[in-house]
Amino acid sequence: MSVTAQTVWNNCLLFIKDNIQPQAYKTWFEPIVAVKLTDNALSIQVPSKFFYEWLEEHYVKLLKVSLTKELGETAKLVYIIKMENTYGNKQPFTEKIPSSNRSAVKSQNVDVPLNNKNPELRNPFIIPGIRNVKIESQLNPNYNFDNFLEGDSNRLARSAGLAVSAKPGGTSFNPLLIFGGVGLGKTHLAHAIGVDIKDKYPEKTVLYISAEKFTQQYIDSVKKNNRNDFIHFYQLIDVLVIDDVQFLSGKSGTQDVFFHIFNHLHQNGKQVILTSDKAPVDMQDIEQRLLSRFKWGLSAELQTPDFETRVSILKNKLYRDGVEMPEDIIEYVAKNIKSNIRELEGAIISLIAQSSFNKKEINIELARQVVEKFVKNTKREVSIDYIQKIVSDYFQMDVDTLQSKTRKRHIVQARQLAMFFAKKFTKASLASIGSQIGKRDHATVLHACKTVDNLSTTDKQFRKYVEDLTKKLSV
Ligand code: ADP
Ligand code: MG
Repeated sequence: MSVTAQTVWNNCLLFIKDNIQPQAYKTWFEPIVAVKLTDNALSIQVPSKFFYEWLEEHYVKLLKVSLTKELGETAKLVYIIKMENTYGNKQPFTEKIPSSNRSAVKSQNVDVPLNNKNPELRNPFIIPGIRNVKIESQLNPNYNFDNFLEGDSNRLARSAGLAVSAKPGGTSFNPLLIFGGVGLGKTHLAHAIGVDIKDKYPEKTVLYISAEKFTQQYIDSVKKNNRNDFIHFYQLIDVLVIDDVQFLSGKSGTQDVFFHIFNHLHQNGKQVILTSDKAPVDMQDIEQRLLSRFKWGLSAELQTPDFETRVSILKNKLYRDGVEMPEDIIEYVAKNIKSNIRELEGAIISLIAQSSFNKKEINIELARQVVEKFVKNTKREVSIDYIQKIVSDYFQMDVDTLQSKTRKRHIVQARQLAMFFAKKFTKASLASIGSQIGKRDHATVLHACKTVDNLSTTDKQFRKYVEDLTKKLSV
């Protein structure tokens, strides 16, 4: 980190601190890390996307004023969202080596010896300007075992993780596959294992990567004609953590390359850790040979935490943030948000923020409002009526017109879109969708879904409709 980024940010902080409540300052500004200052753009690292959105929503003016004071009118702010490894401004987190340097990279067909500790040239993580970096593990130290609380719901996965980090590659848990629903701690646990290994075995090369980013790197490597370098790079890793492998579904090229990397690592006693939102038996469009590899080791499930675990997760979070909260409020939140730890944390953060920002006292009523928002957001099932309403509004017609028998093209299209979204967003059968959208039969609905699929690949304007409506229906 450059000194200037730090000093600029420190001055901003002084200003910000003077202008907001101490609690809000503590919650939203203390966790921020100034990363760099280039071209009058200050990059700050924030702990999550939620955090970034909160800052943008509530503090953007304050940030702007303070930064302009420091850097003048051309000042820019770039967010780096730490956990998700993406820049808030949607630029990729890492970039490939520019072509001029790539000519130095030899394409080899033999495996690189495993003691080769000099893989910089092939490192797809190299960030321009910072050359000769060692393979960065991409681990988030905030996700560790200490703050991954144990409960019945995660005991097996957690202990397996601990066993793996005590002896990476040396247990029968290879690969270790952690699976479970959204927000139940897969990413956290996967990082925790990596962080612990790095701690115990600093000389080991550990790499965390999401399956999505892995896929992107692979596609780039094919485009740039250095697929072998890509493979060799990954074969150098001692502990490879791939998050959300369900993302590889249907991507046969990436699966194939991963299969080879996996075999190489496994044969050489390297540890592989995978996470997935599904058990191996339920994964679709993953090649059989890869699925069978996934089953070689241990598949450990993260289940939904019970009430006690939810309470202790909340208490731990509050304790670490140095915030006090009445017991009954904590229990209220834990009782009402059951199936997703990320939401549980989100609710408590927003409660803290609400109270500090609006200077409100945290009481059950406030808790009820906050929880309701979270629960409503996740549980709201879109109805076919709602879909028809949104689609008609979008095309500025009323629902009766949308349902009418007319063959006018734009009305037919609106109707077809409504059917398509009813199929996509509800569990209703084709027949039931048809009867609710202008009394059509199931074949008409099926035809509508196919038409929408076709048009959205061939017609740009139409694709825009689908995208816009998807957004409207998903918020
Ligand atoms: P997933 O990858 O399964 O969607 P994450 O790992 O991102 O879920 O977890 C969501 C949030 O819940 C994270 O902030 C994480 O720290 C927290 N979390 C999950 N499990 C636990 C746990 N056992 N103890 C403490 N925090 C947890
Ligand atoms: Mg995750």
